[in-house]
Amino acid sequence: MSGPDDKIRCDACPVMCYIRPGMAGACDRYANDNGTLVRVDPHVLLDRTVMGGGGLVPFLDQHDWDARANANPRTFVTAIGAGTTYPDYKPAPFIVSAEVDGIDTVTVVTEGIFSYCGVKAKIDTDRHLGAECAAVRAEGEEIGHVTTAEYGSQMLSLGGVRHLTGGSKKEGRVTCDTLLKLCNRQPVELAIDGGSNLILEAGASPIVNGTREERMRVGCGSAAVGMFAKQWHGNVDEVVVVDDHITGVLSEHQAGKVLDVRETGIRIRGRRSTPGRYFQVAEPGVGWGGTNLVDPLAIVNAFDPKHAWPGLRLLMVSTTGEHYAYFELDASLRPVEKELPLALRKSVERIRENCEPALCTVLFMGGAGGSLRAGVTENPVRLTWSVREALTRVTCGGAPVYVWPGGGITFMVDVTRLPANAFGYVPTPALVAPIEFTMRREDYERLGGHMDEVRPLETVLAAAGKRHMVQTADNPWPLAPQPKPVS
Ligand code: SF4
Repeated sequence: MSGPDDKIRCDACPVMCYIRPGMAGACDRYANDNGTLVRVDPHVLLDRTVMGGGGLVPFLDQHDWDARANANPRTFVTAIGAGTTYPDYKPAPFIVSAEVDGIDTVTVVTEGIFSYCGVKAKIDTDRHLGAECAAVRAEGEEIGHVTTAEYGSQMLSLGGVRHLTGGSKKEGRVTCDTLLKLCNRQPVELAIDGGSNLILEAGASPIVNGTREERMRVGCGSAAVGMFAKQWHGNVDEVVVVDDHITGVLSEHQAGKVLDVRETGIRIRGRRSTPGRYFQVAEPGVGWGGTNLVDPLAIVNAFDPKHAWPGLRLLMVSTTGEHYAYFELDASLRPVEKELPLALRKSVERIRENCEPALCTVLFMGGAGGSLRAGVTENPVRLTWSVREALTRVTCGGAPVYVWPGGGITFMVDVTRLPANAFGYVPTPALVAPIEFTMRREDYERLGGHMDEVRPLETVLAAAGKRHMVQTADNPWPLAPQPKPVS
């Protein structure tokens, strides 16, 4: 559509930009190329990995595509760079047929515009980053909150429709910008109300208050006692593994009982859950084991003289082995810090060795709404049913997704499994994410697919503006036959 001054109007999203010749629209995804509306980025095709071990790397531009268009195509048409159609009833930009193992298949691809989307960030650290439900901010704007911690990880829920659309214009813009950076694996700076400052980047170790996190804990304090009790037995009389959630005490723990560890009379602060397992020994923080402890002895009330003895050997250690201290009781049964004996040094090393590298994991989560589903079929609910019945496979830039049970098509994908910069945005504001639906041709017809728009894979391979990349070795091939659903 032409506008004044040779501008053309982009109709790929509700913004409907007028674009001057040689210029791009508000999202930098579409441009006016001598009066023609073009998608700026190349359309990405994935080539099947023949041998493992390769990441996503570009192929030569002059691609030998003829040899690949056979009965078992080695090329998958992703939605990255494919473009978007708007409004909803228009068919998706690419509806591609291919024969896979003698079965006619159809893949429908589009760059979906997700107003309902966000990011779940898993941050491998014991450190307390902020209270549950505390606001998470970028550039001072609230873009999400701290959610339920998981085993060895703190979790953030970022974005979502409320922050994208329900606050100020700036809140929506900053939320969208932060999500885009996280999804495209760029670092972002976040601040948690009453908590820590973070630098997060998908696939990299998190930086908490300026310190790069190195280790993900071996387990909770109780689990650590269970794992290492045998290695401590005989080398030390008592071990306390300090943990914000479950602090473990060797002599009282079942692991110590089984090994006949002598009672030591240690009295630990906090709420005793079961023998040798204590909750709430201190406040959450960035000290020992995710507590606010700087001095671990602050959680030891006393030693009962009925059971303790002068010379009793005590090891206190955190769940990552990052913090440790060794004490012996003096004649008054007071702990005196001493140098860590060699045998215990090895056990602390073993705890550290068993910690995995701390990472920040970013899952994009979005719901395939009206535009998306109507671009696939004239009867959108049938696409939802088809996905539910496992007749249709959903991928995101060729990467496997997890589709939530229940209504709609709400999916999650690990952003590190997509090619770099696979995500975009539109200033509505919303994120743009690639999504592909692959199914048997007969199933596509049955669910009311846009059959007139189906084009053979060969025609896509022959077209200009494509970029071939090798499928990431860890991802299953998106065109591999699906197991038959159980009827
Ligand atoms: S924001 Fe992008 S997709 Fe939307 S109308 Fe403008 S150029 Fe087109």
